[in-house]
Amino acid sequence: MAENSKIEWCDHTTNLWWGCSKVHTGCKNCYAEYLSDTRYKKNLWGEKNIRKRILSAFTDLDRYQKQAEKKGIKYKIFIGSMMDIFEEDKEIQNPTDVIDSIASLRFRLWRKIHNNQYNNLIFLLLTKRPQNILKMIPTSWQDGYPNNVWFGTSVSDIHTWQYADQLKATEIPNLFVSIEPQVARIGNIDLEGIRWVIQGGESGNKKRPFDISWAYKMKEVCQQQNVPYFFKQIDKKQPIPQDLMIREFPENMK
Ligand code: SF4
Repeated sequence: MAENSKIEWCDHTTNLWWGCSKVHTGCKNCYAEYLSDTRYKKNLWGEKNIRKRILSAFTDLDRYQKQAEKKGIKYKIFIGSMMDIFEEDKEIQNPTDVIDSIASLRFRLWRKIHNNQYNNLIFLLLTKRPQNILKMIPTSWQDGYPNNVWFGTSVSDIHTWQYADQLKATEIPNLFVSIEPQVARIGNIDLEGIRWVIQGGESGNKKRPFDISWAYKMKEVCQQQNVPYFFKQIDKKQPIPQDLMIREFPENMK
C-alpha cells in the first residue's frame, strides 16, 4: 500500500489484500481495522467478511525490485500493515480466473520469490498466526529457506509470548519478534532462535500505557543474548530517551 513506509524498520509496506480477524490482546485497537472501517467505509474485518484484493500489490513489488536493483541496494518490505499473510484462506473481492482467494495471492508471492524475481527485496512477513507458517509456505522451502524472507510474530505481554514460542518451534533460520504494542511487563525471556527483536508501545487515542522500564529491560535481555534490538516508539508522542535510541538490524538483513 504505502510508498516510503512510515514504519521505521522497513523501506516499504505492501498489502496483497486488506482485512483480517482479531487474534489476541495486541489486536484490541487494530489501527488497520479502524482505517478500513472509518476512513474507507469497508467491511473487511472478522471471520465472516471477505477480504479486498489490492490490485497494485505485485506491480508495486516489481517496481521496488527494479529500483533497488538499479541502485544496487536492498529494500526491506513489510507484508503487510492491513492484513496477516498467514491468515486462513478467505474469498476476496475482485477475483479473477486465477486468483480467487487469499491463498492464491499468497501462492503468487511465494512463486515470484522462488523464481528469484525479488532478489533485491527482503520480505518481513509479520503474523499473529505463526502456527500456520509451515502449513502455508512451499514444502520445498523446508530444505532451504530463501535468504531474503524473514518470518516474525507480534506479542504484547507474557501471555502472548506463546506465539513467539510457536514461531521458534518452526526452526526457520530467519526469525524475528515484534513486541508491539507492548501492554504489560514481559521480563526475562529466552530468545534462542530469534535473530531480531523490535519493541514499541501503543499509539492513538485508545493507547494503553507503556512503562519505559519495559524498554530498558528488553534492551538488557537482547544485549545479554546477543540479539539485535530495535526500539520503535513509546507512543509516537513522547520523545525516545537517547539511551533507548537503538535501531539495530541483523547483519544478514542489511
Ligand atoms: S492480526 Fe494485525 S491486522 Fe489482524 S486484527 Fe490483529 S492487529 Fe489487526
